[in-house]
Amino acid sequence: MDVKVFGVVGAGQMGNGIAQVAAASGLDVIMNDIKDEFVEKGMRTIAANLERGVAKGRMTAEEKGVILGRIRTSTDLKDMAQADFVVEAATEREDLKFGIFRDLDQVCPAGAILATNTSSIPIGRIAAQTGRPDKVIGMHFMNPVPVMKLVEVIRGLATSDETFKLTWSLSDAFGKTPAEANDFPGFIANRILMPMINEAVFCLYHGVGEAEAIDTVMKLGMNHPMGPLALADLIGLDTCLAIMQTLYDGFNDSKYRPCPLLRKYVEAGWLGRKSGRGFYRYDQH
Ligand code: NAD
Repeated sequence: MDVKVFGVVGAGQMGNGIAQVAAASGLDVIMNDIKDEFVEKGMRTIAANLERGVAKGRMTAEEKGVILGRIRTSTDLKDMAQADFVVEAATEREDLKFGIFRDLDQVCPAGAILATNTSSIPIGRIAAQTGRPDKVIGMHFMNPVPVMKLVEVIRGLATSDETFKLTWSLSDAFGKTPAEANDFPGFIANRILMPMINEAVFCLYHGVGEAEAIDTVMKLGMNHPMGPLALADLIGLDTCLAIMQTLYDGFNDSKYRPCPLLRKYVEAGWLGRKSGRGFYRYDQH
């Protein structure tokens, strides 16, 4: 199957990054969200990212214009009727993703692949919402998408080899390095990363150290490029909590219990960079 039109559902930090790399690889892209203001914000982010590329001499202003010109925006999921391959990158909530997959299954052509960028929700559960579980797959990009090399490709039980191969080769075409994971809560990346972040939040909660000290220990002591609390702020604390809850529910194991402090921050609307405050404070723009 030849992918010509690539759909992205959700124009947040992951969705707009995925739309950017798909357009940069030469595909026509439809980027969808629920409100004009969200798709417009996504387009502004892409334009600013590409502009940085121009300023650094990595592309010409003309190339930037061509890439932007390949991205159409949409606030109606029915527009995905034109897509051969769709990646869903909406908020990490199971009920919401289930609804999107039921709708995509209705509107997309029978042969279209429906991928999800979920961080943790089992692919098989999402696939079961559709009449085409063989064409549903996990395509898990890392944040920030234009920079990070990895795509975790996750097969559900019913995912076909054809779907897997196409997703793998598309990841290559986007200039990424795919790695295969099987379908368990959190897959590989968040099965390992998120308990570490949660433990860092427990260190703060128990007063083992201040946020800056916890991050300094992990950066300088373990050679991590970012401390776990700064990384949690980048990912979004709502997303971190949702992932921990999926691990906890999925394995029924208390070692995955979300730290109460993480929950408290999310309930207060302290979601990290995207809301201007998390473990650190950020300028809003
Ligand atoms: P985000 O909050 O930045 O963006 C989510 C977007 O989804 C919002 O713009 C929201 O309006 C939109 N949305 C909600 N309901 C929708 C619907 N019904 N139809 C279309 N759009 C809808 O979140 P994000 O960080 O971009 O995360 C998106 C997905 O990517 C989640 O599943 C998350 O787990 C996953 N993910 C996140 C990261 C990360 O570091 N943040 C990394 C890898 C994967």
